[in-house]
Amino acid sequence: MGGLGFGKTSMRNSALLGKWLWRFPRKTSGLWHKVIASIYGTHPNGWDANMVVRWSHRCPWKAIAQVFQEFSLFVRLVVSNGERIRFWEDFWWGNQTLCSQFADLYRVIFVKNLTVSNVLGNSLPLSWNFNFRRNLTYSEIDLLQRLMSSLNSVLLSPSSSDSRAWSLSSSGSFSVKFFFFALSKVPNPLMFLPAKFLWSSKVPSKVKALTWLVAHGKVNTNDKLQLRRPYKALYPQWCILCKGNGESIDHLFLHCPVTIGLWHRLFNLVGVIWVPPRSLEDMLVISFKGLENSLRGKTLWQIACLTLIWMVWQERNNRIFEDKGRTEEMVWDLIRFYSSLWASCTEAFRGVPLSILQLNWIGACISRV
Ligand SMILES: [Zn+2]
Repeated sequence: MGGLGFGKTSMRNSALLGKWLWRFPRKTSGLWHKVIASIYGTHPNGWDANMVVRWSHRCPWKAIAQVFQEFSLFVRLVVSNGERIRFWEDFWWGNQTLCSQFADLYRVIFVKNLTVSNVLGNSLPLSWNFNFRRNLTYSEIDLLQRLMSSLNSVLLSPSSSDSRAWSLSSSGSFSVKFFFFALSKVPNPLMFLPAKFLWSSKVPSKVKALTWLVAHGKVNTNDKLQLRRPYKALYPQWCILCKGNGESIDHLFLHCPVTIGLWHRLFNLVGVIWVPPRSLEDMLVISFKGLENSLRGKTLWQIACLTLIWMVWQERNNRIFEDKGRTEEMVWDLIRFYSSLWASCTEAFRGVPLSILQLNWIGACISRV
């Protein structure tokens, strides 16, 4: 959810475990159902296995039972003949259980855990077999009238049995995907603004991954290394590109005189006047209109921006670890070359020879809308 498109694996796991909870009441003839039911017993609702797992050792059902609370939020009972749904305690009518909607009545009923068919009968007209422990007070009679009129539209169909539906999908069947989405919405996923700009671009994955790390402040520039391993670096403030100011992400990829020279070259090339933003994050979030608004223009502009970031990092590492340095001019040529190369591999630039694309970006983007 933070940009790479992977969900949290722990939630994916919970969503998959939910599938066993869904299957349990549907596979009553299965051996596994019998084993689970005989070990743990049946839930008071009559559908599920008992979810109180007391053993401390690790057993598969314990992990599955832990998902039950979230799972049950999305299960709806669909009443047909009313023989498997409890009238008061189960959630089958209105927006909550009847025992919480009509708590004052529930307090004085004689027998609990009655099914819908026990109370209403299983055919029309409804038979209303309420059994109260004592005579009702006036306010309780009012409540009872409200309950009865709200139930007037209940449709029982004696020929089919009650069922459970999954409220998150239109078909009513359980879906791991929707359960996973529902679980994922609980904590707020980290919003990463340039995600679309970055992940929809056509550069190699390694370039996208680097930019993603850069945008999240997760590459090891000298200021970060200094925080993690103080006293390790001889020149903690050293920027190998400009041989000056402190190396941070904003400096290295944006404000360093060498890098900003490259950004200027890029903006000059496409004929756009720009003001360098405060941070690299802003740089990625602001959608500069570099080239034409055509598919080709957008594709090439995205590629060029990401290639620049990539080449700056390559150059920095080459200078530190290989002791090889290129001039700004040479780095710029490489940026143009790789941008053109990666762009020429895309569908948008099909049929445009690399040599022509490399010479004239604007021309190549205008020639076809
Ligand atoms: Zn610098």
